[in-house]
Amino acid sequence: MNIEGYDLFLDLDFKNLKFLGTLKIEIESENDVALNSIGLNILKVSSGGKSRHYEQRGEDLVIKTGSFKGTLKIEYTGTIPDTLTGIYRAPYDNTHVVTTQFEAANARKMLPCVDNPSYKAEFRLTLRIDKDLDAISNMPAESIRLDGDKKIVVFQKTPKMSTYLIYLGVGKFEEIKVKLGKTDIVVATIPGRIKKGKFALEVAKKSINFYQSYFGILYMLPKVHLVAVPEFAAGGMENWGAIAFRETALLIDEKSDVKAKKRVAEVVAHELAHMWFGDFVTMKWWNDLWLNESFATLMAFKVLDAIRPEWASWQDFLRKDTAGAMSRDGIRSTHPIEVSVKSPDQIEQIFDDISYGKGASVLRMIEAYIGSEDFRKGIENFLNTHRFSNAEGKDFWDALENAHGKKLKTIADEWIKKPGYPVITVALNKGRLSLKQERFLLSGKAEDIWPIPIVMKLNGESRKIIFNKKEESINVGKIWALKLNADQTGFYRVYYPRLYDLVWKSNLSVFDRWGIIYDALAFLVAGKITFAEYSDLVKRYYREQNYLPALEVSDQLGFLHTIIPSKITEISKEFHRLQLKMLEDRTDENSSMLRSIFANRLVIIDERYAKELTVRFRDYDRVEPDMKDAVATAYARTYNDFEMMVKRYRECVSDEERVRLLGAMVSFKDESLIALSLGLTLSGEVKRQDTGTMIFAALRNPEARSLTWTWLKVNIEFVRKLFEGTGTLSRILLSAIPILGIGKVKEIEEFFEKNKVIGAESGVEAGLEKLKIYDNLTRKIRQSSQPKP
Ligand SMILES: [Zn+2]
Repeated sequence: MNIEGYDLFLDLDFKNLKFLGTLKIEIESENDVALNSIGLNILKVSSGGKSRHYEQRGEDLVIKTGSFKGTLKIEYTGTIPDTLTGIYRAPYDNTHVVTTQFEAANARKMLPCVDNPSYKAEFRLTLRIDKDLDAISNMPAESIRLDGDKKIVVFQKTPKMSTYLIYLGVGKFEEIKVKLGKTDIVVATIPGRIKKGKFALEVAKKSINFYQSYFGILYMLPKVHLVAVPEFAAGGMENWGAIAFRETALLIDEKSDVKAKKRVAEVVAHELAHMWFGDFVTMKWWNDLWLNESFATLMAFKVLDAIRPEWASWQDFLRKDTAGAMSRDGIRSTHPIEVSVKSPDQIEQIFDDISYGKGASVLRMIEAYIGSEDFRKGIENFLNTHRFSNAEGKDFWDALENAHGKKLKTIADEWIKKPGYPVITVALNKGRLSLKQERFLLSGKAEDIWPIPIVMKLNGESRKIIFNKKEESINVGKIWALKLNADQTGFYRVYYPRLYDLVWKSNLSVFDRWGIIYDALAFLVAGKITFAEYSDLVKRYYREQNYLPALEVSDQLGFLHTIIPSKITEISKEFHRLQLKMLEDRTDENSSMLRSIFANRLVIIDERYAKELTVRFRDYDRVEPDMKDAVATAYARTYNDFEMMVKRYRECVSDEERVRLLGAMVSFKDESLIALSLGLTLSGEVKRQDTGTMIFAALRNPEARSLTWTWLKVNIEFVRKLFEGTGTLSRILLSAIPILGIGKVKEIEEFFEKNKVIGAESGVEAGLEKLKIYDNLTRKIRQSSQPKP
């Protein structure tokens, strides 16, 4: 089957949330034409004025054409529900916008189509809407004419593209724009918010500029919209020429904190990378989703590093992407980067730390090994070879191999097609450095081998090897300083039994300092080191002055506190107090972000500190943005004043502020108030998209654990429905189960045994495995305080 083009006329009833579609498909097929179609009411199918028989079979519309070449005309109606996928209604202030989210397999909810990324076709949209409304789609409008009290907007035809990248937004929008060469860059928001789009507009311009020169290919459409959508499941979606964003991932004002700015910049840069990598060249099937996502993830940080060097963004990359992926990939229920998927539910669940973070980290490892210019050249060749078309993982490696001139595919394959990653154990013996590798698992280990491109610091010099055996011993002579995985460009862990002093003598970068403590927590969980050894190592970081390692230690203490508060509170108090003191006079943005996160951690564990901050809640609007999280949480914990918090929440005008207060409202010490807060999601007072955010925030409050689990148990079906088709619940459960379930493993297992959560199977499975590991850990740590017999 081959599709040349779709020509869609959509008559949209904005107020009553329904539409009438007339679709002309230019198609060639050897058998009956089968199109994907969900929830559409087909009225008539015809070709050349002759009607055709058809039937709906599951999610397919089968048209009895036999062998066919020509144009099929399909007339149908559809409705616009309150969901987060397909064509849906995103409400705000008693009105709404109509918007779309088609990735991975939801274009079929707006038009019958071959909803498969490799069936690229030209797409032409004509819209009939109320004349006072605005419309945004992938291409600019070619003509607009009045039609009674309606208007007809004809959009330019797109180049060949995949259906999941089609976009339509209808409502009242305000816009700001800039021009870069011939490209219009436009930010669009609902009325009253457009001023907040200035920052994103600037980042977008710089990002496109960066990509045009990096890829050596100009942006290919006449314009790109960045649209802030009032209800949106993900951070952003790379519809070609019309990118959709959650408001908190696009809008910034003078009251925004550094965390919010970084998020906006990252999501904007990420989505724009997809304009080339994903939209212009698209994966053939979703098994290669990683090609899209790893690549955009990596590229976003290249952009951030170039346009905001003071953020030291590679430090954030390690903390978010490499660390997230190693944690996700350190259990048995993981999956390879390249993974076989069939159903839409399976596809949604692989938008995870493996497809994004592990893929991006492996690309970074390969880049470090072959050099950044060969890497860039390979990508440019890859994009040029497959322009306006599709490609597979192997095409990508072919292009890199050609650019580099040496074998690469065999190495890459092992990392892409196999789950997990290695840990290297290092020993020194009479001038020989011996290395041993096995698969790292948080629950222990397993035999396996990877070809590891190692970059190491040896006696102050850099050395590269490929370590592809189980064991290897290298003659190195006298060693006085050693650090493997130099600057943490590799996706593996390194264990140095009794050699940490040697490691500390190396010229350690902030990345190296991060890597040592990052691995240490994993080794504690896996039982390679004791709690006492771990605590000793943490003490070396008490006066850490650098962003990434300091933040890592804080993250670790925060995590340990959620699972075993009693043992961690004192260490954590000491660390965070010292750190906040050191940060007092620093004014750079990364320091204020640290201050924000550290203060927010300290208010959870330190009543005295919380009390001190509470007084500032009286003048909350004037609190500096980076302290607002902590001040709101301090107030919630000290006074348990639900009425005041909810009043504040209702007065909010920005989503950033709303989310901040929701975080504070699950930080009460009083469980019954947390129940009231979570209840706001059921009554519709909390945006659908933010329900997940609240559950994530509740995880860090030990007093909320029991109640949150009870709430989730009772409302699991509500949350499932809310995020149906988005994979979000899978991600929520993966994070929530291991924390909420501590101390009641059996109960939780039985619950999920009895209640299968469709669309979240992989999150439940991985969550349960992690739960057992964490539950074990808490027992181990608790015992470590018992006096030895
Ligand atoms: Zn992406």
